Amino acid sequence: MIPYGRQHITQADIDAVVNVLQSDFLTQGPKVPAFERAVADRVGAKHAVAVNSGTSALHVACLALGLGPGDILWTSPITFVASANCALYCGARVDFVDIDPLTYTMCPKALEEKLEQAKKKNRLPKIVIPVHLCGQPCNMKAIFDLSQKYGFKIIEDACHALGAEYRGFSIGSCSYSEISVFSFHPVKIITTAEGGMAVTNDSDLAARMARLRSHGITREPELMTHEPDGPWYYQQIDLGFNFRMTDIQAALGLSQLARLDAFVSRRRELAKRYDLLLADLPVILPQQNPDGMSAWHLYVIRLQLGRIHQSRKQVFKSMRDKGIGVNLHYIPVHLQPWYRALGFETGQFPKSEQYYREALTLPLFYAMTEQEQDRVVASLQNAI
Ligand SMILES: *Cc1c(COP(=O)(O)O)cnc(C)c1O
Repeated sequence: MIPYGRQHITQADIDAVVNVLQSDFLTQGPKVPAFERAVADRVGAKHAVAVNSGTSALHVACLALGLGPGDILWTSPITFVASANCALYCGARVDFVDIDPLTYTMCPKALEEKLEQAKKKNRLPKIVIPVHLCGQPCNMKAIFDLSQKYGFKIIEDACHALGAEYRGFSIGSCSYSEISVFSFHPVKIITTAEGGMAVTNDSDLAARMARLRSHGITREPELMTHEPDGPWYYQQIDLGFNFRMTDIQAALGLSQLARLDAFVSRRRELAKRYDLLLADLPVILPQQNPDGMSAWHLYVIRLQLGRIHQSRKQVFKSMRDKGIGVNLHYIPVHLQPWYRALGFETGQFPKSEQYYREALTLPLFYAMTEQEQDRVVASLQNAI
């Protein structure tokens, strides 16, 4: 089976993990702050808060920005459910903005139209989460300009996009947002097994996210409402969680981060090679925003169903039967039964729904060989 994504683990990664196991601290030791500093420096952000998943990073980012009951968060329908669920965790409401049909990321025009309508009804969102789908940066400048006009905050869901660039900035520099969020799940660009990180240039937001990661507890007397009654005193000032990353995970992350450039440049090469190999097939290749340089987490094609005698389901099954781990990113979130129960229905986001009917994710990972890639292309050719 050629999987759609796969981690890459070296002896150096294994040694890094084993060293932590033989050290004094398995968690709350020196590796987590070292990993935070390294990621912040790499992406050009002032602060980083490591947590136990990308989902937790989205959750604490929303809470730090004050999202709560009565508030609204907007995101893209074409994303993993976590980008929307984070609003529900906070007791807020979710709505969606349709995608650009060329790049599959949040369409700034659709966003502007929806904002104009929402303003009239006094239902403007507090937070908008653009998603850098497949690792391709969204049109952040346009979305940022709208945030200035309509007064919402931006969290970039950059779970696919560590190593991507936009207008000369690394994704994660937060040049066009308050907070950016990464995931280190094994299929993502680098891995800590499970893990995530929120980065920001705002020291207050960073402090709040760090507190929410660890029970909402502080040891800083100036933040306390009560006099410490001894040197052991700590006070819970927020309702936080245990979302901590372990030192074992952070050590793996640090070791992986050293190979980030190699990971991304190989993914870019393989994507370019797919572009060439697939050029004559009845498929739409992934279009790129000229302002961005994708990290190529995913390579998604669209089947031109009018030119193919098979359904997408048949193509999918035929490739899976041949051991090609094709996948589908994503089922539009608003069509999930959970979200339909909140009132969403088919037809509300037509560009996302059209994309969903045609999309197919081909395998793409750092250690993929050209022979494996040729097998994927031959299998696709055969299936259609
Ligand atoms: C992976 C992913 C997440 C969640 O990250 P986890 O680390 O799995 O919790 C959120 N958003 C997107 C777009 C993702 O791909």
